[in-house]
Amino acid sequence: MTQLTIFNSLKRKKEQFVPVNSEHVRLYACGPTVYNYAHIGNARMAVVFDLLANILKTLYPQVTYASNITDVDDKIIKAHKETGEPISAITEKYTRIYNEDMAALGCSKPDIQPRATETISEMIKIIEQLIERGHAYAADGHALFNVPSFDQYGGLSGRSRDEQIAGARIEVASYKKDPADFVLWKPSKDDEPGWDSPWGRGRPGWHIECSAMSEKHLGLPFDIHGGGADLKFPHHENEIAQSCCAHGEESDMESYSKYWMHNGFVTVEGEKMSKSLGNFLLVNDLLEKYNGEVLRLTLLSAHYRQPLDWSEDKLHQSQKQLDRFYKRLEQMSDIEAEKDVQADKVLAALCDDLNTPLALAEINTLLKEENSPTLKAKLNHAGKLLNILQADPSTWLDIYEKNMTTDEYEDLLQERTQAKADKNWSRADEIRNELAAKGFKIIDTPEGPKLEKT
Ligand SMILES: [Zn+2]
Repeated sequence: MTQLTIFNSLKRKKEQFVPVNSEHVRLYACGPTVYNYAHIGNARMAVVFDLLANILKTLYPQVTYASNITDVDDKIIKAHKETGEPISAITEKYTRIYNEDMAALGCSKPDIQPRATETISEMIKIIEQLIERGHAYAADGHALFNVPSFDQYGGLSGRSRDEQIAGARIEVASYKKDPADFVLWKPSKDDEPGWDSPWGRGRPGWHIECSAMSEKHLGLPFDIHGGGADLKFPHHENEIAQSCCAHGEESDMESYSKYWMHNGFVTVEGEKMSKSLGNFLLVNDLLEKYNGEVLRLTLLSAHYRQPLDWSEDKLHQSQKQLDRFYKRLEQMSDIEAEKDVQADKVLAALCDDLNTPLALAEINTLLKEENSPTLKAKLNHAGKLLNILQADPSTWLDIYEKNMTTDEYEDLLQERTQAKADKNWSRADEIRNELAAKGFKIIDTPEGPKLEKT
């Protein structure tokens, strides 16, 4: 069997993946807070861990992938106060949109998608265990985790105590024993959602959710915990503290999750994504313009641990790459794929810490082979592993022709007009020949040059 190796953030090195129980592998990834549309940073996380779950499912007989929905949070309450929409309507709406958008990106729905509001009693139980063991305390309607009570704190992120305090943007509150202590439970005002608890009516802090949901649905320890690199601190550090200390496993950080995986950031045309720069890319908007499979391939074009710089250029490259793959599949539409043949090198690349750039290079190498039942089987298998190439090739290519007329061909035509204005005749000719090769001729009209299909 192909051996999976992954970069374990907890050990800061690449390791062979050895499941806790090879009969049943369990994976958890932190899901979205549902008060708004998902952006491509959220999508990268969803696509990366969907791919990981898919690979695990090809290697092991049973895999459970859980990814949560955070449906109680201050940002949701804020959205409710701003719009007047009931909280349940907001969370239902954005959960549905998130699932639809991720499905369009080729993500299977996680096997379990627990909601925070359905796990409140389990959270209260963990907090009680923490208080009992001296790791947490109640103060002023709150329950807080006492960070100095856990020696291993900082072990995942490698942050020193000073960096922890600076990084957590901690509010100084009189009820805290230590400035680094974090909230497990906090009081709710009358107009805010709340649940009865031993500390009064209130709601959970964010971190305790994931400790409760992962333990409830996967059991401890589970195999792999994933999420975006921005969650490493404080969110994941706090999850480890809560889950290890609640069960008296203070000396063993692996008693919660054995492996940790974090995907890198997404930048847009070289800039950090931010609302103020106006480059906050929402999946929902992108899907209006691009096929979900093109977006998926773009998200997988960089190695998951590397930053991914999103650009129009990359989207065009992904489109072209998919067109090439589909074209070969279309040429082989009358060939029956050979049985029991796999794309071994593509699988090997993906089993090497999800090396998607290498996997895509291997598919491109496959295209050098002649059309044959073997090649068709390999392409089909590669497509299944990455969850791409699942459309009907001729339908895909029809759509592609249409997309190209409006987008890329028009760009080319404009570039040719500019080249002519610049007296760059060789480039102008080159573009005319390229368009001719694609079956277009240029017609001069009073409104300027137009494309016509030959
Ligand atoms: Zn989480």
